[in-house]
Amino acid sequence: QHIAVAIDGPAASGKSTVAKKLAKLLGLNMVNTGAMYRAVVWGALQKNVSPNDPAAVVAMLSDFDFECKINQGSSEVWVDGQLLESELRSDAVNANVSAIAAIVEVRELLVAKQRGLLQYGSVIMEGRDIGSVVFPDTPYKLYIDASEEVRAARRAADGEVDAVGKRDAQDSKRKVSPLIVADGATVIDSSEMTLEEVIEAAVAALTA
Ligand code: C5P
Repeated sequence: QHIAVAIDGPAASGKSTVAKKLAKLLGLNMVNTGAMYRAVVWGALQKNVSPNDPAAVVAMLSDFDFECKINQGSSEVWVDGQLLESELRSDAVNANVSAIAAIVEVRELLVAKQRGLLQYGSVIMEGRDIGSVVFPDTPYKLYIDASEEVRAARRAADGEVDAVGKRDAQDSKRKVSPLIVADGATVIDSSEMTLEEVIEAAVAALTA
């Protein structure tokens, strides 16, 4: 029986870094679901489909060549036979991802793929709706938070143009699977904590 550890939280809260470290520590596959939403945006922009036109995006999905695989313990996303990496962090993708993530059909497609990844082994999955929608029954749920100032500073330090506050507002306000603290999740506010302290708190919560 494979288990799922759900890690949710707003943009640049540090949840990816925490998820990666925890996955190594616990020997679990690490799945970044934001990359999947980003891959759909990248595919749409390649095909001149507007991420703000839900009907056009849904039409694109009918023959969208999208794959998500686990390779050496982490998730990879492939579109049209191409492995996507730095492409997923472009300014255009940052600016359009919340719009695409609000489309019900996009979420249905990706949530099904996310659940399917459990067949390859136990996972740590990070995103916005993992504890609330993807694996609501898992007892292992964390919500990693940080103040907006800290998050904006972290993103700027990564050299990215990313309006995290705007993205979070859109992700929290949307009707379908909004960013919320899932039932039973332990909230860790990382604003004033070092990475080591966050990992320690996370391990304590998961093994309590
Ligand atoms: O985690 P990351 O910041 O890369 O996610 C990019 C965007 O994808 C989020 O701002 C959100 O709109 C969407 N997302 C989502 N549900 C997830 C993961 C990401 O809606 N589980």
